[in-house]
Amino acid sequence: MLDVAKIRTDFPLLAREVYGRPLVYLDNAATTQKPRCVIDAIADAYTTVNANVHRGVHRLSQEATDRHEAARETVRRYLGAASAAEILFTRGTTESINLLATSFGEAFCHEGDEIIVSEMEHHSNIVPWQLLGQRRGTVLRVIPVTDDGRLDMEAFQRLFTPRTRLVSVAHISNVLGTVNPVEDVIRIAHAHGVPVAIDGAQSAPHIPVDVQALGCDFYAFSAHKVYGPTGVGVLYGRERWLEQMPPYQGGGEMIGHVRFSGTTWNELPYKFEAGTPDFIGTIATARALDYVSALGLPAIAAHEQSLVRRALDGLGTLPDVHIYGQPSSLISFNLGDAHPADVGILLDHQGVAVRTGHHCAQPLMERLGIPGTVRVSFALYNTEADVDAFLAALRRTAQML
Ligand code: PLP
Repeated sequence: MLDVAKIRTDFPLLAREVYGRPLVYLDNAATTQKPRCVIDAIADAYTTVNANVHRGVHRLSQEATDRHEAARETVRRYLGAASAAEILFTRGTTESINLLATSFGEAFCHEGDEIIVSEMEHHSNIVPWQLLGQRRGTVLRVIPVTDDGRLDMEAFQRLFTPRTRLVSVAHISNVLGTVNPVEDVIRIAHAHGVPVAIDGAQSAPHIPVDVQALGCDFYAFSAHKVYGPTGVGVLYGRERWLEQMPPYQGGGEMIGHVRFSGTTWNELPYKFEAGTPDFIGTIATARALDYVSALGLPAIAAHEQSLVRRALDGLGTLPDVHIYGQPSSLISFNLGDAHPADVGILLDHQGVAVRTGHHCAQPLMERLGIPGTVRVSFALYNTEADVDAFLAALRRTAQML
């Protein structure tokens, strides 16, 4: 069990008010609030070890490098990866998938080759593959979503052809909450000799992930959704793939030797990390992952799921609420014919922060035949009182509308 009252004192922002009311923050799938230890880690790193990493012989640079590389080791442990060389630091999930699409695409994809994604993907797991298509002539194959918001696994199996090069799917849908059966996805794809990339933006904060046990080939997430700073992301990639992939960007750090007659690449993971990394951000990210690990992801998941059950019970007592998908750490719904933005604005004025709209998943909205949804998403610091405040505000909103 989490001591949520105590946990909340770790998050200074949760003490603020909006419109003179206590903030009820239920937009955690978009970004999470930061514990004091993460905020302090940023100030501490700037105050005590700020010096550019990897290139310095001086003491300060060595200390900064040690902290940055220790952060990579913390991420390795968090994901259960075999080696820190398989942990690439990026700016976020979006950049991780762009790196993958560009570099994997260049190494392995040719005109007419196929990439499988699903109908429930975030735009950041669709558009990079479309851009690859424009450059290389690859084609997208799309796993349909069933009416109850799951991947159509029968249809998925029929999508494979000899031209399939990669499957890239979300672990947890940021709209539907559905926890996809990625173990089955990986087993089926591997039976066809096809590697699998997992968009873990919504799973890394909520459920334990072990990339080796899963057997996925790539896994991406964003630090800012796991109580860490903005501007830091991770791409895990199996060494055997990363070794064969060309650099994503050129510059300092990623080189072995530069000559005008030709340049060689640095070893993993540096081949994929051109330029000065956000080493202050990676140090703070490690602090956030340590914070989460100390509380324990199973306890966090149990707490969040109990809040979701309470919210679902409450929503069930309201007339005309339509819930989409398979809520896990988040719930997407609509209130009768009300526009989601109107619901969101009225909730906001009662101190309840939710997200509304297409949630960067327009193809899924098209599939569902709606312009958007209202989404409430939970974090380890949310309380039953937050759920009750949301339900009370929604009841008033329904009356106003
Ligand atoms: N994928 C999923 C499933 C997401 O929910 C998000 C963010 O909402 C992203 C990718 C993009 O993450 P970021 O904006 O941090 O790069």
